Amino acid sequence: MTKNVFFSPAWLPNRNASDRSGSIIRKIRKIFNSANFSEKINKGDLVCIKTNFGDPGNANVVRPVVYRTVAEIIHKAGGKPFLAETNGHGYMNHKRSAAHYIDSATWHGLTIGSVRAPLILLDGFWGVDGVEVKVPNNLVLEKAWVARGLVGVDHVVSISHFKGHSPYKRGQSIAASLKNLGIGCTTKTGKYLAHFDPPLYVDEDKCDGCKRCLSKCPVPTAIEVSNGKARINEELCLLCGHCKSLCPPKAIVPSGLHSEELLQKFIVDLSKATLEVVGKEKFTFLNSAYDIVTGCDCRPVNSVPLVPDVGFLLSSDPVAADRATLDLVNEASGIPGTEADQLDCVAPGKEKFGTCRLFEFCETAGLGSGDYELIKASPKKTPPLRL
Ligand code: SF4
Ligand code: SF4
Repeated sequence: MTKNVFFSPAWLPNRNASDRSGSIIRKIRKIFNSANFSEKINKGDLVCIKTNFGDPGNANVVRPVVYRTVAEIIHKAGGKPFLAETNGHGYMNHKRSAAHYIDSATWHGLTIGSVRAPLILLDGFWGVDGVEVKVPNNLVLEKAWVARGLVGVDHVVSISHFKGHSPYKRGQSIAASLKNLGIGCTTKTGKYLAHFDPPLYVDEDKCDGCKRCLSKCPVPTAIEVSNGKARINEELCLLCGHCKSLCPPKAIVPSGLHSEELLQKFIVDLSKATLEVVGKEKFTFLNSAYDIVTGCDCRPVNSVPLVPDVGFLLSSDPVAADRATLDLVNEASGIPGTEADQLDCVAPGKEKFGTCRLFEFCETAGLGSGDYELIKASPKKTPPLRL
């Protein structure tokens, strides 16, 4: 089934730089107006703006003005917006708990004052508060844990930075609406299962019995140390990865690491689980195709974009949104002197992110539609913003 994807381009070739229709606020309002977004919001609706706060060392993330503009649109439609994320896996980085991650968001200028919406972690303080759900028509994952904070919300606006996703090899896949829906809406358990094989086990040759792994386990009986060796109870373990991160000799290890292709299958299953829990009719997906780089925002790396900015794309279907954005990015000329040279994708039409099989897996699993109609957002419907 063909899905509508609304497009507000970054560059308007027939206008000059001083034309106010080039305003980023105007572009976002235009695209929401064209999609009749306000008709989806009833007075008093609780509206989640789901995004990726990103690593403090990465400035390629979505800018605060985008969130503020969307929050204003929701307020104006009568809804109550909140800006939301889920915790990252493990206990190493800025995403380890709600306290750490909300603090990290402030590095990117995201506060209740700047966005006009409170910041919430959807999967609780430690990132393990989820609703168990059976994955319908699954590819690889039988059950998943969707962040409990999403249960009962009236609408979700997913805002994703469109970029590559290359944890194993540069330029192998994309990260945008589908990743924000699958990985981004699940607990630490889902993030573990997407990347690694269960269970976590203790390499007894390396374990020295120091007990550091016990200190941040959210299930106090899931790991114990006796006779100088740690043991994990598979029945109780939530696979949050805290013990793994904290173990000095790295004695706690996953049973295996997934390939990029297998990770993409897990993203599809986790996306289906999220839609099952929240309701697929409740989602609007906005891709911000600005600062398009090969690496994910969760890395502390600030990269140089490999293609010029493309613009904003909006759809009720995450597959259509990502497919349309990827097609526009692939059609663009790569920027010489950037990674586009190394990836041999400077010529227009060359694939910028290599062998991305995500859409093939979506089709097999019956998730969304890769068929889309690109609709230019209409400037006529959008009056200037009065600040
Ligand atoms: S932190 Fe590591 S070395 Fe220390 S007891 Fe736990 S598993 Fe063993
Ligand atoms: S034993 Fe399981 S639940 Fe406890 S910290 Fe380790 S991974 Fe998390």
